[in-house]
Amino acid sequence: MTTNVSKGLAQAVLRGDRRALSRAITLVESRRSEDRDCAEAVLSEVLPNAGSSLRIGLTGVPGVGKSTLIESLGNLALSRGHRVAVLSVDPSSVVGGGSILADKTRMVTLARKPEAFVRPSPAAGRSGGVAPATREAVYLCEAAGFDFIIVETVGVGQTELQVASMTDIFVLLLQPTAGDELQGIKRGVMELVDLVVVNKCDGDLAALGQRTAAEFQQALRLVPAHTVGWTVPVIAVSALLDEGIDDMLITIERFEKGVRGSGQLDRRRHVQAREWMWQEVRECLVERFLEDASTQLRARQLEEAVAAGSLSGMAGARKLLDHSSDSS
Ligand code: GDP
Repeated sequence: MTTNVSKGLAQAVLRGDRRALSRAITLVESRRSEDRDCAEAVLSEVLPNAGSSLRIGLTGVPGVGKSTLIESLGNLALSRGHRVAVLSVDPSSVVGGGSILADKTRMVTLARKPEAFVRPSPAAGRSGGVAPATREAVYLCEAAGFDFIIVETVGVGQTELQVASMTDIFVLLLQPTAGDELQGIKRGVMELVDLVVVNKCDGDLAALGQRTAAEFQQALRLVPAHTVGWTVPVIAVSALLDEGIDDMLITIERFEKGVRGSGQLDRRRHVQAREWMWQEVRECLVERFLEDASTQLRARQLEEAVAAGSLSGMAGARKLLDHSSDSS
């Protein structure tokens, strides 16, 4: 039964059927054990046809202009013959039920085009529970024929690092700002970035934007290069006025050509694919570990002791692991 369903769905995805693509993404996002087999089967079926896109990670704080920029860049890429998919990773939509990325009103012109696919971030509380399965969604989009895939995220928690670990080029979006605010950007992000784009360089903000770009370029000189042979460019753009976006696309294409030619793109993807497997292993181990009711109970007791400060986190973890091996 599962085999027929998954085969049919995989074939529809491979034909470029967008509804099937949406359904397949929902399936891989589901944490229900009964959906797992089907999701795995669909992924295995499409995997040989995935991999031929450029995966672009884009991060920036709320309001910096991500959706305006993605519309502008996405439409330009479409006009050059690309097929564009946009996936959002929004930690707030999973945790709090609200969404920082406020999906419904975003990227409307792009979403309407048949050669584009815009996938809102998963809604919280859907039955079965939804975990972002963005990496899997990237493969599904590629199998459906999308070759220019943008994965966007807000700079919250660890999500931008996760996005960098599943994309080929990592873009940081900034807005014109006073120099000391740049110090607040996490070092981890600075070390992973391949391209910096300062948006809103228009009107009254134009001069400040140019200064921000120059200061950031200076700050980057202190950071070790993420990609061999590539000096991270800082580009000033206005997504609203469509200025500098062609420069951004040309820079992305230049990067792609370089890393494909040098073999770095393949090497990066190999490392990422290995990490994908280990991440699954870690998640599944924790899930299986907590299936046992007495382990769950013991976990709650130990958590409380740790929260109250009567036990260290390290000792709590050890006791829980010992409890589990004693009871098995
Ligand atoms: P997001 O939260 O990062 O997706 O940001 P949005 O794309 O929703 O943009 C937030 C606000 O900034 C909106 O009011 C946009 O109109 C505005 N904005 C976006 N890009 C530009 C730009 O290039 N110049 C100016 N002046 N405003 C912009």
